[in-house]
Amino acid sequence: MNTPTTLYIDGVWQAAAAGGTREIRCPADRSLVAEVSEAAAADTERAIAAARRAFDVGPWRGTTAPERGELLHRVADLLAERAEEFALAESRDTGKRLVESRIDIDDCVACFRWFAKLAGVDAGRVVDAGSADVVSRVVHEPVGVCGLISPWNYPLLQTVWKVAPCLAAGNTFVLKPSELTPHTSMLLMGVLTDAGVPAGVANLVLGAGPEAGAPLSTHADVDLVSFTGGLVTGRIIAAGAAATVKKVALELGGKNPNVVFADVAVTDEAFDAAVDNALNAAFVHSGQVCSAGARLVVEESIHDRFVDELVRRAELIRLGGPFDERAETGPLISAAHRDKVTAYVEQAVSDGAVLRCGGRWGEGDLEQGYYYLPTVLDGVRRGSAAVIDEAFGPVVTVETFRTEDEAVEIANDTVYGLAGAVWSQDAGKAQRVANRLRHGTIWINDYHPYLPQAEWGGYGQSGFGRELGLAGLGEYQESKHVYQNLRPAVTGWFGGTDD
Ligand code: NAD
Repeated sequence: MNTPTTLYIDGVWQAAAAGGTREIRCPADRSLVAEVSEAAAADTERAIAAARRAFDVGPWRGTTAPERGELLHRVADLLAERAEEFALAESRDTGKRLVESRIDIDDCVACFRWFAKLAGVDAGRVVDAGSADVVSRVVHEPVGVCGLISPWNYPLLQTVWKVAPCLAAGNTFVLKPSELTPHTSMLLMGVLTDAGVPAGVANLVLGAGPEAGAPLSTHADVDLVSFTGGLVTGRIIAAGAAATVKKVALELGGKNPNVVFADVAVTDEAFDAAVDNALNAAFVHSGQVCSAGARLVVEESIHDRFVDELVRRAELIRLGGPFDERAETGPLISAAHRDKVTAYVEQAVSDGAVLRCGGRWGEGDLEQGYYYLPTVLDGVRRGSAAVIDEAFGPVVTVETFRTEDEAVEIANDTVYGLAGAVWSQDAGKAQRVANRLRHGTIWINDYHPYLPQAEWGGYGQSGFGRELGLAGLGEYQESKHVYQNLRPAVTGWFGGTDD
């Protein structure tokens, strides 16, 4: 694999001006993946200037929406051809299983194709002004220079959710991926260039948020900042963007309820499906998923049977590195993140939660990496830190309810509002509850699927704006109303005389 290791600014691979570098290590075994450039604010400012020029005076402004649609199809084709190379790079940076990285790359291809199609049909609209003498139309234009900041859990996917609509709408951008997982973003720059994206349109800076990332929210030449990451960083980004009143899109965390009604126990098949999906909800990618079903909210009458089975299955989950074919999930991203998860569980236990399984680091061979065992915390109190704070690790808390109203109340009792699920054999009840949940995505009798065609985003402090769907393109567009009077005439509003 010939992955670049530097920044990409104005169509040129280049080291950080001050010569900064960072070691990237695989969290599965701490092996060195590569040493890459580490940008400072001055590098990001250079990239912003390149994106500004490319937007204001470059050939990109002359492209039509269908041409950009075709370009994105070419990107999707090239990405599909090189999928294995991307998946390997993603697994090395994140430690996630190769099979999961392959799925992520397929999802990236699908996302490019969705926005490729959407670009081609998005032509604005004619508005009836109520007069035969007026032509009125609303057109969509690019916002301008976009700062795109992405996290480490789904490094390429979260990046592509931004890059694809950003290009489809005709913007230019500076991308800053997580400093922990830069490689697939670097590979993506190569694919964009090969597909025909002109120099300066797509720029990449690597490095820490407060240094390399901060100018993307504060700099006057950036018109929009789209951020996916944690709540605390989201607040900093929004505050940084306020001085220049730039557009802000925030995709933040979640504390997502997985509500299970007792009627799933009506058949063994339905019960097993609910337990199996509760495991997926909480433990896929070791819970490092913004929409993880980290709060199991289960009807009291089936609590014991359901949680016993969940714990039994959780204890059987096999942990391992990206290339361990027996592994079912992988490590946490870093030592610091594992310390955070450890402290979260310790706090929960000292607040009275019952540790049913897990609550420890991986042992033996797993000691080479940052493994944390799947953990079930039963009997958590409402209002305790365990049900308020995002652990972002393989930890599920258990709460119980007796009535439909109580289920809704518990599920909505969070400052977040990203996603949630309802499990019930009663279709009416499932719909009623889904309608009352204040979260951006609700699954009924399922967990985790998302569609590029459907909007993704949060209520409350899970952020604002939407990615994917139709709104995902709108995020990167300005609407302009063009009103033309075909019969200009004196209005008579001001008399124009001295009397
Ligand atoms: P993070 O907030 O620590 O970092 C996210 C990105 O922001 C990184 O690229 C980081 O370098 C950058 N950053 C940090 N400080 C910055 C600053 N001052 N200015 C500019 N950029 C800065 O988040 P993380 O730990 O990488 O990701 C985990 C979080 O992301 C979780 O809370 C998770 O729920 C959330 N997330 C949300 C979604 C969603 O769709 N809503 C998806 C994935 C992850």
